[in-house]
Amino acid sequence: MFSEWTATTAASTHSDSVLEHPVGGAAGIVDALVHAVQRNASVVRTSAPVDKILVEGAGDARRAVGVRLKSGEKVMAKEGVISNVSSLDFPSLFSDEAREPTAAKSADTPMCPSFMHLHLAIELTPAVRAKIPYALEANYVSVEDWSRGIASPDNVVLVSVPTVLEPGRAPDGFAVVHAYTPATEPYAAWAGLRPGTAAYDAKKAERSAVLWRAVARIFGQDVRDLAHVKLVGTPRTHERFLNRKFGSYGPMVDAAQSPLTLPLPQSTTAIHGVWSVGDSAFPGIGVPATAASAWLAANAFGDVREHAAILKNIGL
Ligand SMILES: Cc1cc2nc3c(=O)[nH]c(=O)nc-3n(C[C@H](O)[C@H](O)[C@H](O)COP(=O)(O)OP(=O)(O)OC[C@H]3O[C@@H](n4cnc5c(N)ncnc54)[C@H](O)[C@@H]3O)c2cc1C
Repeated sequence: MFSEWTATTAASTHSDSVLEHPVGGAAGIVDALVHAVQRNASVVRTSAPVDKILVEGAGDARRAVGVRLKSGEKVMAKEGVISNVSSLDFPSLFSDEAREPTAAKSADTPMCPSFMHLHLAIELTPAVRAKIPYALEANYVSVEDWSRGIASPDNVVLVSVPTVLEPGRAPDGFAVVHAYTPATEPYAAWAGLRPGTAAYDAKKAERSAVLWRAVARIFGQDVRDLAHVKLVGTPRTHERFLNRKFGSYGPMVDAAQSPLTLPLPQSTTAIHGVWSVGDSAFPGIGVPATAASAWLAANAFGDVREHAAILKNIGL
């Protein structure tokens, strides 16, 4: 997959493969989704974490009627509640009495490890430019040892320099750099460390070395002292920013070896009106799969003819 993305030579058999960037970065996708929701007279609420899904009734007649936010506010549902929190976080959305077996079971799914991140802003002064071996590209894959494979810790680093495509995303003359390990950082080593302590900072320095090395290859120089902004993200950062237990990439489902263990969005819960979508439902992790699980849920709510009309409208 990586070689298809990066193949640009005339000899390549995949020269028409491209890695697409949304205009405006990831925020551009968020803005488009928010716009689509608001255009249909619906509301997007942020900084409004859900504490519990409200369930009424008993036994097979249990039904979700809304959610209670951590602020105490209740938001009632007409059709039901759709959740895209991770499978590890999903069970905590139910009170002890309402929790049902499938929610507890979903917490047992083995999870992928987490990430190390580096976010940098580097000023492209003439001296810095002079050492960059090739014109900067938008994407790189830095591999320490090809024989070890992508799942091996400290081996593969993905680096993007989005300002190559959108220079306006940074002040004039600066490059923005994001380097990360692709879900190869185990959470366990970070669990006992408290952010802000010397031990945590020492671990950050140790575990980010492979990222700095990858960026140094691209820039032809060590950029530690050159970067105006340097943010090192750890599994703890990931857990906090993405609101996911253990900062995990998502459920580890090996399509080649294991039987399919992810539930379909419709059948996730025994409580009527609760839907679990996102990377913890079939077909799994990654944006295309996540979108597919949402389609499955949407198909269950909406009229088929209405869906067909929407698909036609967007050229599918
Ligand atoms: C660094 C990185 C690179 C990636 N690269 C790719 C890639 O190249 N291609 C690809 O296909 N996929 C990629 N992915 C994976 C992809 O981003 C995820 O699979 C996808 O975003 C999962 O979507 P989701 O809706 O299931 O979960 P999320 O995007 O995690 O959404 C869950 C949301 O629920 C919110 N939440 C949690 N608890 C609560 C609560 N109690 N109340 C209210 N809200 C709550 C969270 O804040 C979050 O916004 C990447 C992921 C990472 C981290």
